[in-house]
Amino acid sequence: MTDLTDIKNLYKNCMLCPRKCGVNRAIGERGFCVAGANPYVARAALHRWEEPCLSGTNGSGTVFFSGCSLRCVFCQNAEISRGAAGKEIDTARLCDIFLELEEKGAHNINLVSSSHYTPSVIEALDLSRSRGLKIPVVYNSSGYESVNTLRLLEGYIDIYLPDFKYISPVLSEKYSHAKDYSERAKEALAEMVRQQPRAVFDENGIMKKGVIVRHLMLPDCARDSRAVLEYIHKTYGGSVYISIMRQFTPTAELTESHPELFRKITDKEYGRMLDFCDTLGIERGFSQDAGCEEESFIPPFDLEGV
Ligand code: SF4
Repeated sequence: MTDLTDIKNLYKNCMLCPRKCGVNRAIGERGFCVAGANPYVARAALHRWEEPCLSGTNGSGTVFFSGCSLRCVFCQNAEISRGAAGKEIDTARLCDIFLELEEKGAHNINLVSSSHYTPSVIEALDLSRSRGLKIPVVYNSSGYESVNTLRLLEGYIDIYLPDFKYISPVLSEKYSHAKDYSERAKEALAEMVRQQPRAVFDENGIMKKGVIVRHLMLPDCARDSRAVLEYIHKTYGGSVYISIMRQFTPTAELTESHPELFRKITDKEYGRMLDFCDTLGIERGFSQDAGCEEESFIPPFDLEGV
């Protein structure tokens, strides 16, 4: 557990993520993520479109935080990742939100892109546990994380759910403004697995502890996808689950900025990637059905539950 004395001082010279902006968020300065010193939350509700072991029958208790330290050009949640949506709340309200989601039957608390608010999240989780919160906490992340920040979270997070988006620095620079993405993602994943080395499920198949790594396929990036999957499997074998996602939905602005991304993943491309996973010997994984990109993975950021 983290020493909570002055944890909010971490906002005063912010180094919470690999961008290391060094801004004083407590006096209104803003870094790459555009976040202030109080969390902005755009939605807190049950969500049924996560992996089955997280959504279960009741849904995952997702809390969508505004702002993001990565801000990919193809972001499916751009409305919140660019900081435009959300309401400012304090730690006490965040704690209440966690408890309300548990009361609604959520199988877990699912922190969606909360790394830039880690001090507030730790305070709220501490308070929630003291008030009886029992369900697991999921850390849903872009994978672009600082190991020091992840260490602060040790003992608070039960399930790590990071993306692993790219191996190629050319792609990560082009699409996520982060040439060092794969280096940071590798370090982050190692720390996550150190904290949660073994997957644990209850009798209904609901995950209680562990690591699930997500990889979202992008158009014409199959070679990099194979490199990502190979790295994860060869490094961690069966100790992590791998979720291979085909839900990429091109946004209108990509037609001008990155036209090569303006299409969906085809059945053939996805099938080939699943075949590749079989060849590698990946057994612990999740795949998505055809047509999933048409479903409502992107919820309305209407302040529900905030
Ligand atoms: S959390 Fe935000 S302000 Fe802090 S280092 Fe990262 S991008 Fe910069």
